[in-house]
Amino acid sequence: MISVVESFLSIQGEGRYVGTPSLFVRFGGCNLSCKGFGCEFISPLDNSTLVGCDSLYAVDKKHFGSSWEEYDDAQKLFEHISFLVYGTASLPHLVITGGEPLIHHKNPIFYDFLKLSLDKGFKVFMETNASIDVDFEKFPLYKEVGFAMSVKLSNSGESYEKRVNKTAITNIAAHAREAFFKFVLDAEMIKSGEAKSQIDDIIKNTHLSVFCMPLGKNSEEIEKNCYDIISFCIKSGYNYADRIHIRLWGEKRGV
Ligand code: SF4
Repeated sequence: MISVVESFLSIQGEGRYVGTPSLFVRFGGCNLSCKGFGCEFISPLDNSTLVGCDSLYAVDKKHFGSSWEEYDDAQKLFEHISFLVYGTASLPHLVITGGEPLIHHKNPIFYDFLKLSLDKGFKVFMETNASIDVDFEKFPLYKEVGFAMSVKLSNSGESYEKRVNKTAITNIAAHAREAFFKFVLDAEMIKSGEAKSQIDDIIKNTHLSVFCMPLGKNSEEIEKNCYDIISFCIKSGYNYADRIHIRLWGEKRGV
């Protein structure tokens, strides 16, 4: 079995491929909880207030799992996403996201779904926190995937030991078809010098591109943070990436 939270056709809102038509498939579950991001949700289970990241509905199975779809067969999931791209002039990027999709990377349904997608000609990207080590020799299809590594910083509220796995990062950098980093920053982290020191520690020895994005759950918060992030990127030699899906749609899901 594998849990799919949502799947939808849109444009990539952040990172290297911002604006590119993309089909998102969001898998349920995560190995982190990132309460530091402070996004609040009301539980559909018991109306309690829950705090976490903006994808908490894809992380917390206990409270949100009743709306997740369970698949016991990769072909069924593939048929579903094929229906979503029916009629498009060319295939969009296929963006596998979560939660943390790599918690499923050994699951045969997940792996078969990847195979069907690659065979069909999708350019596949994995949006990951890069804290889970992938055995690229045992699972060689992951070599054909692009990895957007959103390694969590201290503003996630998670411990360094949980959020940074240098072995996993190095393996992805060495084996994936393509890989880059993306970090969500706030002005506070930049002023304190924490953003630079933490990013430099994470990217050390990888030579991959870095994209920095403003923290915020709506366009006002993005606007408040973005100018500091842009100055920081110019000084540090990183790339600025906006988060246009948040500017356009805020916290609305499935767009
Ligand atoms: S790793 Fe990503 S999906 Fe998981 S809790 Fe943290 S921000 Fe949310």
